[in-house]
Amino acid sequence: MTTATKTLPGMTAEQEHEHAALLGRIEEQREQVPCVDGPNAGDWVTDEKHTQATAARACRACPLLVPCRAYAIRHAETGGVWGGLLPTQITAQARHYRAALDEDRRP
Ligand code: SF4
Repeated sequence: MTTATKTLPGMTAEQEHEHAALLGRIEEQREQVPCVDGPNAGDWVTDEKHTQATAARACRACPLLVPCRAYAIRHAETGGVWGGLLPTQITAQARHYRAALDEDRRP
């Protein structure tokens, strides 16, 4: 996730708030966050599958892996690699998350 390229239009207020919080944490720890700056930052937003997989593996070293992944799943992010997950994995996990929420809301 590069901070400059993943802010999506049409965010809900809740999403905007969570996104801002995540960006704040990234800013605080940016020296340790692989997707920020550096020559490979574009790997997180490419459509090239092999490069996406490389970026997803690099996320394992990120101190924000868990909150980044949770954010991406909760909001079904589609803009690249987040939290060590490929876009297709985020979509699949977001679908499960939504289904579980719907199940919990049933009377
Ligand atoms: S987990 Fe990956 S996408 Fe998320 S902030 Fe860290 S390096 Fe970036």
